[in-house]
Amino acid sequence: MLDNRATWSDFRSRRPELAVLGIGATEQHGPHLPVGTDLLAVDALARQVAERLNAWLLPPLPVSLSECHGPLGGTVWLKPATLAAVLGDIARSLEEQGVRVLVVINGHGGNFILEPAVEKLNRTLSSLKVLLAPESLALLPGDSPIFATADREVHAGEVETSVVLYLRPDLVRPPRPDGALSVGREFLDYVTMERLNPEGVWGCPGFADAEKGRRAFAARVEAITRYVLDAVQWLAREGHGDSG
Ligand SMILES: [Zn+2]
Repeated sequence: MLDNRATWSDFRSRRPELAVLGIGATEQHGPHLPVGTDLLAVDALARQVAERLNAWLLPPLPVSLSECHGPLGGTVWLKPATLAAVLGDIARSLEEQGVRVLVVINGHGGNFILEPAVEKLNRTLSSLKVLLAPESLALLPGDSPIFATADREVHAGEVETSVVLYLRPDLVRPPRPDGALSVGREFLDYVTMERLNPEGVWGCPGFADAEKGRRAFAARVEAITRYVLDAVQWLAREGHGDSG
């Protein structure tokens, strides 16, 4: 794996063809989780995936689409078009130096622009494919469900709190009030989070524990790694990409 500790000569001799980019956020996560929650989680996730794939690990983006959390403290946001433009510039700079596949791991639920942005990039780039790792893979049926309240979680609930309890328990504070709301997630398109719950929580952090976080994290590393290997193989077979 290559990351920011490598020199240009390491890149020249290793010529990485696969790169991994995590997209984090800086936004309120209730009174119990740090504003850097999405960034620290995606940083750890992208690193483990890049290690498994022996890829080039890019530093994660620290800011994305968090405007709906704005009025609560500690939130910084980009406009959707800005995030799409940043992703495009990163992809083109990687393509220029021979990278064939860029894996984007989204660590923040509100980044709706990524899917159309990735689709557009794949229509316009000539030798690089951008893959968007599917989300919520840790919650897929098949294995016994990890979380009791995943269906009620939008923000800073059982899932996110469990992951931070696993990765950085020192950063999780009590109290952890539940914020189970009766409206749909699309209400974040109508009003800000603060109007829905002044505490900034949408979910049940009271159900969280570190072991659930560990299991979910491991399942997601495994699922994304498998997804990328399968997708690269499929694209190569169809003549769309490198042999990987
Ligand atoms: Zn989050």
